[in-house]
Amino acid sequence: MKSVRVVVVGAGVVGFSTAVCISEAFPSCSVTLVADSFSPHTTSDGAAGIMYAAEFPDIPLERQRCWFKDSSDHLLAIAQSQHSPDAGVILSSGCQLFKEVPANLKPFWSEFVIGFRLMTDEELKRFPEYKFGRAFTTAKCECSSYLPWLEKRFKKAGGLVEKRKVNSLQELSHFDLIVNCSGLGSKTLVGDTQVHPVRGQILKVEAPWLKHFIRDADGKTYIFPGIHSVILGGTRQEGDWRLQVDRGDAESILERCSRLEPSLRKAKVLSEWVGLRPGRRNLRLEREVVRLQDRRVPVVHNYGHGGFGVTLAWGTALDAVGLVRQCLNEIPLQAKL
Ligand SMILES: Cc1cc2nc3c(=O)[nH]c(=O)nc-3n(C[C@H](O)[C@H](O)[C@H](O)COP(=O)(O)OP(=O)(O)OC[C@H]3O[C@@H](n4cnc5c(N)ncnc54)[C@H](O)[C@@H]3O)c2cc1C
Repeated sequence: MKSVRVVVVGAGVVGFSTAVCISEAFPSCSVTLVADSFSPHTTSDGAAGIMYAAEFPDIPLERQRCWFKDSSDHLLAIAQSQHSPDAGVILSSGCQLFKEVPANLKPFWSEFVIGFRLMTDEELKRFPEYKFGRAFTTAKCECSSYLPWLEKRFKKAGGLVEKRKVNSLQELSHFDLIVNCSGLGSKTLVGDTQVHPVRGQILKVEAPWLKHFIRDADGKTYIFPGIHSVILGGTRQEGDWRLQVDRGDAESILERCSRLEPSLRKAKVLSEWVGLRPGRRNLRLEREVVRLQDRRVPVVHNYGHGGFGVTLAWGTALDAVGLVRQCLNEIPLQAKL
């Protein structure tokens, strides 16, 4: 009989990564993952899943480096193993382009991707609108395969899965510890007014001749070749809750991407998709204690990854394990018996 009951809310890439890390780190705990949407219906499912990041302004850079390093150790190892086809994690090479030379020539994560270098003037001639570029090889993690792969790994470690909406943390008062990975859902679930949608629209096209990614550093225009198709993006519309495809956005994406890669004008459009990134000035990864039905229950929050949830999921999940360990050390002895 497992003693301490842990519940993880959320079945996106952050929830499943965190649930796997907890269930594998604490085999004596019973871990249940609860969510109202599962793959293929989460935001994570539609993400391009390219591993790179921008800085959160108020989180110590050393902590963010640690998240990135732990994630890249994990994803690059899968991409270079026999698990790659099942997990949907591959290596992807390409470049990030800048219209102006950035203040920081090397991002904080440059040493955790493969072969990071600045592009030469000769290479940049292909992109006349841009003055500066970075080339590197990184992981591309396709969540439509990766989430089912994580779910299998979670169940193998004894994890349980439940599909339902949690209207209030009060409904989880029979658990000893709650881990909140509900992404944008945290706005209502824990009343966080800082978390907001950042709308992203993409198209999937058939263009098997394209092998390298190209990304404008403003994050609004990108071409990401993947396992079955090429993703063209995108938009970054803050505070926009619309989930339906916008025709104007689709035309603008095709036009911007074709300027970068003219052969795309001939590509067949396979599908279109919109997702809402869980935007937050700073990702929330911390613990607190809440009062539920006269009990004091520890809660570990892990949400607000914005446009970098696939990248940072594993690193933040390992950090969350450390917070869970601290909580478990403080849970009264009777809950552990
Ligand atoms: C167009 C686009 C492109 C992107 N590209 C990249 C990229 O290249 N690289 C990258 O790193 N990131 C990328 N992202 C960002 C990435 O998709 C997100 O950061 C990530 O999906 C967030 O994961 P999550 O698990 O926090 O949230 P989600 O995937 O949204 O999962 C949230 C989960 O919580 C559940 N939930 C919420 N509230 C409740 C409730 N009350 N009760 C029960 N369950 C609840 C939901 O059902 C769901 O299961 C992109 C996003 C978009 C939109």
